[in-house]
Amino acid sequence: MTERRQPTAEGLRYPNRLVERYGAKAGVLLYIAERLPDIPQAKMVVNEPGESTEALLARANAAGIRWPRLFRSSAIAELTGYEGRFPTEEIEPFEKGHEQVRWNDQNYSIYRNREYFDNGVRKLVERIKNSPGELKAYDEGLDLPDEINVIIAEKAKSKYVGTYIKHPNQERVFLLTITEQEEGLWGQYDPKRTSFKHSRDRGLEELRDYSLKHLGGEAVNSGLAEVVSWHDRIASLPDMDSHWAYQVEFGIDPPCLFQVRPFKPIKQPTFTVKPTKYVVEELFTPIVIGTTSSRGVVLRVVDHDSDTTDEDVAYVDDMRGVSRAENFPNLKAVLVEGVHGFLQHNDVRAMRIAEVTGMYKIYPFNVRRGDQVRVKSDGERIKVTKVKRKTIEDKQKILDSQDLIERLKLVYAENPVLLGKLENYAKEYAIEQSPDVTIWETDGELRVAEVEIEGKHDNHITTWTREEWNCDCDMFHGRGKFEGMQGECSHTMTLRILAAKEGYEILLPSEQEH
Ligand SMILES: [Zn+2]
Repeated sequence: MTERRQPTAEGLRYPNRLVERYGAKAGVLLYIAERLPDIPQAKMVVNEPGESTEALLARANAAGIRWPRLFRSSAIAELTGYEGRFPTEEIEPFEKGHEQVRWNDQNYSIYRNREYFDNGVRKLVERIKNSPGELKAYDEGLDLPDEINVIIAEKAKSKYVGTYIKHPNQERVFLLTITEQEEGLWGQYDPKRTSFKHSRDRGLEELRDYSLKHLGGEAVNSGLAEVVSWHDRIASLPDMDSHWAYQVEFGIDPPCLFQVRPFKPIKQPTFTVKPTKYVVEELFTPIVIGTTSSRGVVLRVVDHDSDTTDEDVAYVDDMRGVSRAENFPNLKAVLVEGVHGFLQHNDVRAMRIAEVTGMYKIYPFNVRRGDQVRVKSDGERIKVTKVKRKTIEDKQKILDSQDLIERLKLVYAENPVLLGKLENYAKEYAIEQSPDVTIWETDGELRVAEVEIEGKHDNHITTWTREEWNCDCDMFHGRGKFEGMQGECSHTMTLRILAAKEGYEILLPSEQEH
């Protein structure tokens, strides 16, 4: 059994006293109930250390907790992402369950008779309490206690249930997913979920591309606005951590708080990834979590079939395979497509472990297992470019680019401004910075080449298509101090040199351009 990566929660502030006594789930909920009693929670009890199962069940009855009840785990380990690995179960009232099975002599479920039921409930509590043992039987390396706490809670009457995260890199942005609460034990499980984005500027928007079902309406909208408003109130409590973005589980219609757990530390990006020009943004813009440095990180592409490796990796796969990502000890990026109803346990764990996650409807790039890619993210946009290995052949091409620079010098011989741009900037950008060029081809023919160049004052996106050149700098457009001089800039020159290096003939500007 491979040891799976765990997310960390290093330096996280949490209500220690309550969490150590009652586990993370219950400890945090009790703390919030104490400090923010206006946030509605389901009625619950949680076992005291050493309390017997009988005593806990008696206390649940005395507290007036009605059925159906939820039996939930509560463990400190849930702060570091054991979420979803301990059992949680919903139990119907005995009478309702019994009604369904009493005609059937062969039914030996807990609803067979009262004795089976009481026994089954006791066993369930014991099983949750001792569940770390099951995990440790598979993986001896796990650092878990022998027993964890058990919560007995009344099932909320909310029509919808869901979960959201505060975006750790975008100010006041929340991502949410909801579904209709299952209709009891024999109801149909419904995997169709609706995802939303809530931002300060635009309020609530459904993410239709990421939703298989479209829940909405006034109760949904106002309910989601309310539950989102809880986040910062909770995070700014003295024993919570305002430097962290939390994941919150909730019900709406009516609203109810189910759980609060750490997601990722809040981190503001220090640079901007410029939008790519020649792709259909709506199709290819992913949901992005996490940032890199402005140079990005160079990673090996792996997928669910790859062998485990110590290299820094980008896990690139269909969303359904996302749980395999954590098998790679140096997981840095997760790039998944075919995403519907995100924010389930597996993708949240991957997001917590990886530095950067991109969730796509369709990938705008074409990379394969074994490729090297550079991944650059500012927490809102992500750019993935293939990194070419430098071979002897490439070195030959770099020499060729020297040759091209000589040819360009001849073209610009009469124009000192352009000659200066070439000598002082383009040469350096192309040879020393040597940025990765993104190329879109059709049938082996170049359609679009794009490069992002770290200019002296700003980054610039420069593109070439068979029809035209484009650059977002002032020189190219003849703006500001370059009034009347529009056209070739040091960035387009750089792309000419880089494209020549890749073996494309997009090369020299024709004489009449100048
Ligand atoms: Zn330019």
